[in-house]
Amino acid sequence: MRTSLSTQPPVTEPRADMTIEEVRESFRHWLVERADALERFTELPTDVEGIFDTLSAMQRELYDAGWIRLGWPEQLGGLGGDIILRAVISEELAAAGYPPPFSFATQEVLGPAVARFAPVDLREEVLPRLLRGDESWCQGFSEPGAGSDLASLRTKAVDAGDHWVVTGEKIWTSWAQFADRCLLLTRTGAPDSSHRGITALFVDMDTPGITVSPLTAITGEADFSSLFFDEVRVPKTRTIGEVNGGWAVAMFILSCERGAAAWQRQAWMRWRMERLAAEAPDLDPVRLGEVFELVSSLRLLSRRTLRALNAGTDLGVLPSFDKHVMSTAEKFLFDTALTALPQTLLVDADRTARDWRTDYLYSRASSIYGGAKEIQRNIIGERILGLPREN
Ligand SMILES: Cc1cc2nc3c(=O)[nH]c(=O)nc-3n(C[C@H](O)[C@H](O)[C@H](O)COP(=O)(O)OP(=O)(O)OC[C@H]3O[C@@H](n4cnc5c(N)ncnc54)[C@H](O)[C@@H]3O)c2cc1C
Repeated sequence: MRTSLSTQPPVTEPRADMTIEEVRESFRHWLVERADALERFTELPTDVEGIFDTLSAMQRELYDAGWIRLGWPEQLGGLGGDIILRAVISEELAAAGYPPPFSFATQEVLGPAVARFAPVDLREEVLPRLLRGDESWCQGFSEPGAGSDLASLRTKAVDAGDHWVVTGEKIWTSWAQFADRCLLLTRTGAPDSSHRGITALFVDMDTPGITVSPLTAITGEADFSSLFFDEVRVPKTRTIGEVNGGWAVAMFILSCERGAAAWQRQAWMRWRMERLAAEAPDLDPVRLGEVFELVSSLRLLSRRTLRALNAGTDLGVLPSFDKHVMSTAEKFLFDTALTALPQTLLVDADRTARDWRTDYLYSRASSIYGGAKEIQRNIIGERILGLPREN
């Protein structure tokens, strides 16, 4: 569902001093003008490797034109301007029917933390490469015994002078088999030091001692991996934030994932909702209205989070609302698709059917990744609403 414009003023080059509306208009025109060249990004390959290559190429195309450099500081490879401009670009891409490039999601989840907590030399080296699509990163948080209870993680980093020696295991690390770097949470304090003894490291994935073992998801694709670290040497210059201060880095990353990344997700869900309405003419209008309500609620919540990030305001645990509504909306949308298009989702084998099926299956994970829904409910109940804690 590509946008078509009746009048086509010349596309203005992206500039940091543009208003939100100017960026929106100019980017829309650019998308229309480049529609033929961008066509290959609408019909992605179905295998993970093919998808990854194609989306990296899309990222580079957007970088070369300057659009995804908006909202990032110039010394980090950007063009400057408000963070909000990044949200405008991701929204317009989704509205025009394009998928978000992979590192787009990383950009909004890990990128802001590296920009904020990494040593200056490191952030100036790696962020331009991420924006250009020259490299991708993964998020090494979860372990077999530490998911919801992240503060109990055990992958240890031992101080060895000018470097750390890392040993342990991570699991469910999305796209790790393609990643050049990993933002890794390690235990540097005593085993029982909980969130006070965690340090974040930025690790090159080709460092000797790292084994990546892909895991097949219910979609049939290896969406994530187990990572094994066997005495991996990581220079101290790769420490992100303070030693034993990794919890602050992790919480910042999770607030970006629960908030800013949810903005991209709501734009994508809205596009999926419109496809559903077009492909299922008998869809119950009340049910469609409920999908619309949920997606719109997510839009309002993540808009608040984006504006807070833009202003440098700390929202604390409030983005837990965004994450909760995000998974509720996504599951409800694809449950609705299953009810409205049973033949497509359950039987057909064409490309459209595969896409609906993959999106339905992935939506099941939306109440798990980035912090399970039950955990968000606990946070909302105890820390936002002030209800008594469970003993
Ligand atoms: C598609 C996908 C991608 C992912 N990508 C990454 C990634 O890139 N990097 C990464 O580090 N991790 C990733 N994860 C892992 C994810 O963060 C964890 O799965 C999640 O935090 C839950 O942890 P767990 O799987 O260990 O489940 P558990 O913590 O064992 O939880 C199991 C169940 O028990 C419930 N539960 C646990 N504790 C409580 C409690 N106190 N109160 C109420 N209920 C509770 C949970 O809500 C859940 O329903 C990904 C997961 C998925 C599904």
